[in-house]
Amino acid sequence: MFERAVLVHYHEIGLKGRNRGRFERQLQDNLATAVGTLASAGVQRVASRLVIPVPASLADATLARVAAVPGVSSASIAFVTSRDPREMEQAAVLAVREAAPGARTFAIAARRSATDHAERSLDMNRRIGAAVQAETGLRVNLDAPDVLCRVEVVQGEVYTFAQRAEGPGGLPVGTSGKVVSLLSAGIDSPVATWRMIRRGAVAVGVHFSGRPQTDDLSERIAGEIATVLERTGGFARLYVVPFGDLQREMSLAAPPDLRILLYRRLMVRVSEAIAEQERAGALVTGESLGQVASQTLENIAVVDAAATLPVLRPLVGNDKQEIITEARRIGTYELSIQPHADCCTLFMPRTPETHATLTQVQRGEEGLDVSRMVDDALASLSWTDYACVAYHAPKRWPSNFTR
Ligand code: ATP
Ligand code: MG
Repeated sequence: MFERAVLVHYHEIGLKGRNRGRFERQLQDNLATAVGTLASAGVQRVASRLVIPVPASLADATLARVAAVPGVSSASIAFVTSRDPREMEQAAVLAVREAAPGARTFAIAARRSATDHAERSLDMNRRIGAAVQAETGLRVNLDAPDVLCRVEVVQGEVYTFAQRAEGPGGLPVGTSGKVVSLLSAGIDSPVATWRMIRRGAVAVGVHFSGRPQTDDLSERIAGEIATVLERTGGFARLYVVPFGDLQREMSLAAPPDLRILLYRRLMVRVSEAIAEQERAGALVTGESLGQVASQTLENIAVVDAAATLPVLRPLVGNDKQEIITEARRIGTYELSIQPHADCCTLFMPRTPETHATLTQVQRGEEGLDVSRMVDDALASLSWTDYACVAYHAPKRWPSNFTR
């Protein structure tokens, strides 16, 4: 029996010109972490491909992990053979049989990346195709085959595969810096965070809970969401900030219709203080234009005015249904719909302001000692770390940051 390997395909990296080496090394590190002990031979670079040798019994599990890693466009379970023509034919027969047991038609798509391989691609297609036809009785259909079996001749080896899993695409985590993501236990912000990770950013989450005015259920849900995001290799740490008492303080000092904006602005300030320690380059939220009262252009402007870092909103142009579909796909939806107390609904009026002005909000904040409130929040936060090789944790925390 031939050896097996998970063969990793990526495209965007190929476009990155001079950065290509760095991108590939980062993807190699990230994959090594994702597959962990499943692949004892590690992740190898073979002629601008990434190859993960695996025992056949672990191939499916390895493929599933690889397919969750940003930067991977697709991955396949290949048979690894020599360039011996008989071996190539046998591998193709096995690959076709394994891929679709009920299939009636197939096609071979061979490619040679090794310049010293004499046989041309078309000739390989015909020769291997004839062998598969003879052995399996399947018919060749070049336009719409039930099974497409690819054969790649690379240096000393040939990789033959007919099964493919789609990856997330995007860029390897660690090639786009770090973001601090405001992570509620709702549907939207996990998707926003995932999208930033897919673009190669390391994400650090900040969750504001209603504790001690509520129970800690939203914190636990945010933790479960973090565990799902961890599978991408891009989620590094979740800070949890008990926010209930600060909200109470704001609700006593400010007009009811402005409360949600004051909460948001304080969340942004606390997140920015964390971003400073983390040396993160941007904040991220799950807002989408017009979705709820707090997400009008006016209110977005008022919230942004509390920040100095860019506030990225990767879902700003998405409909709720699109966001839900994506949340289901990445596996956070079922967690997000669990009933939980949302700190934003604490002390909330029935009719929040939808078109606030900055002057109004600043007036509302006048009676509040905002910098002390930020310090209080920082002094009461706690955090949990997740597996992310590209993450550099802050080395030293100021004395008012405690664990
Ligand atoms: P989500 O589905 O992400 O909870 P939402 O539709 O409930 O969003 P809002 O309540 O307006 O909308 O929140 C907008 C954004 O503000 C969220 O996507 C998130 O980034 C941030 N946010 C809101 N509440 C919290 C929280 N408790 N902790 C951290 N971030 C929050
Ligand atoms: Mg919410």
